[in-house]
Amino acid sequence: MLKKERYRHFVEYFSKNQPDAITELHYNSPYQLLVAVVLSAQCTDKRINQITPALFERFPDAYALAASDADEIFTYIRSVSYPNNKAKHLAGLGKMLVEKFNGAIPAGLDELQQLPGVGRKTANVIASVVFDAPAIAVDTHVFRVANRIGLTIKATTPLAVEKQLVEYLPKDTLAIAHHWLILHGRYICLARTPKCNICPLTWFCKYYAQHNTETALLKAEAARLKKAKDAKKKKALNAIANELAKRSVDNNT
Ligand code: SF4
Repeated sequence: MLKKERYRHFVEYFSKNQPDAITELHYNSPYQLLVAVVLSAQCTDKRINQITPALFERFPDAYALAASDADEIFTYIRSVSYPNNKAKHLAGLGKMLVEKFNGAIPAGLDELQQLPGVGRKTANVIASVVFDAPAIAVDTHVFRVANRIGLTIKATTPLAVEKQLVEYLPKDTLAIAHHWLILHGRYICLARTPKCNICPLTWFCKYYAQHNTETALLKAEAARLKKAKDAKKKKALNAIANELAKRSVDNNT
């Protein structure tokens, strides 16, 4: 299947079935989204949603954050991952927003990435969600799922994945495609054991095609039976080994 066809099937499926996909982080303003995304690095959205109500009540805007310090911020975020670093980042972020951007969230990727704790991924989230820019943030789910489906080829870095997605996805789907890929990765295409048995994308997924050929299935069965001790299973294992050997000869002639 051509890469372009995969993109077409991907966009068609999710446009029809998840036309309103959004982030699972709770927020009510660009400032709140920025803070929540900074906090969500290597942490779950569920955990972030548990602590942000109190955090946003105490620090409703960049000015409140700037007037505080890392020690106080820490007390509100102690249960998230890397709370020390993130508290320092938020304290610095508040100050820079006030001093350099009059308390507003900047729109440009370069300006966003100047903020403490804001890397390319977070900057892309803000640019696409808040400012409707044709950008897509690549996190671990987006990286994995795009590669597995075959939307990206030989893309070994998040930036390479981002470039291919931006090149092939229709511009008006970039922002929502980020959520499609994240949610699919979070609930179906899991990192260790993708739930291909319930996935609706099998018919155009490259990973599925590669792992569900007869030979791939035989190899998986052989690996399972290898641990077997009883004679019946040993016999089945021998039969599979013979079949695989035969296929190997056939392929080499
Ligand atoms: S078929 Fe499997 S590998 Fe492909 S997207 Fe679905 S869950 Fe992921």
